[in-house]
Amino acid sequence: MSYNISVLSYTYTVAKMLIDTPDEFSKIVLYSTYNDDNIIYIDELIYGNESSKLKSLSFDDANKILKIDTNYIDVHSIFYGSFFVLFLDSDGVEIGRTNYVQVRPAENTKFSGAVKKLEHDFSIVVRTSGTTMILFVVDKSSTHCPDCWDFELEQRTKTVCSTCDSTGYLSGIDMIKFKARRIKTKRSSIHTESGILDDDTVVYQTYSRLPFQKEHAIYDTTTGEFFLIKQTNIASIGGIRTSTNIIAEKQPEDDGMIKKYSRLIV
Ligand SMILES: [Zn+2]
Repeated sequence: MSYNISVLSYTYTVAKMLIDTPDEFSKIVLYSTYNDDNIIYIDELIYGNESSKLKSLSFDDANKILKIDTNYIDVHSIFYGSFFVLFLDSDGVEIGRTNYVQVRPAENTKFSGAVKKLEHDFSIVVRTSGTTMILFVVDKSSTHCPDCWDFELEQRTKTVCSTCDSTGYLSGIDMIKFKARRIKTKRSSIHTESGILDDDTVVYQTYSRLPFQKEHAIYDTTTGEFFLIKQTNIASIGGIRTSTNIIAEKQPEDDGMIKKYSRLIV
């Protein structure tokens, strides 16, 4: 079954799409494509949830408006890619998909300067620094832990739980790779809004648009070190998100969560 999707409006950071949907569906999955051979997963939204897995989507069912926050989407996807949406049922089976739609017309010169700048910066990070990092995100679409999750209160009842490694969810840790460069080593102290950072703190700069959040773990594949994100600072040009500085604190190898993540990497 094919459904219609079209652009209702867009600004620098938000695209509103008018979308026809099946009468019933469980999940919306957004993809982008440069051509049919190169299809890239962007994000997914469980019907009824306020926010999507990677924070870029929200859906207004009453008005059939799908909102895409382009600050959470890869630069190429926004300006050159076409988007399409899959509708899945509760078993993850495809019910239908939309036609392809381009959010921002390629000939729109208003954005071309900013795009060139972003591409330039991004290519430098990938080419010259090229540290591959892994972001660990708990998949909140997976099943809640029976040992620590209170289904009525919708929260965890124990701080430490060995069944789910204190995540509240039984399975599904997503490991997402991204490129970054370390711009401060732990030897130097730096000043931020929250004061001077201590010795175990590092700063990574990235042009990736993943939803980096406090207390998410990241792993540096070059040094083999784990960090917990303490703060992020997002830079922007003309309202468009460019790079993100991730301020993170080194974690000991004997930490329970780090041990679990270590096993996932090998
Ligand atoms: Zn648990």
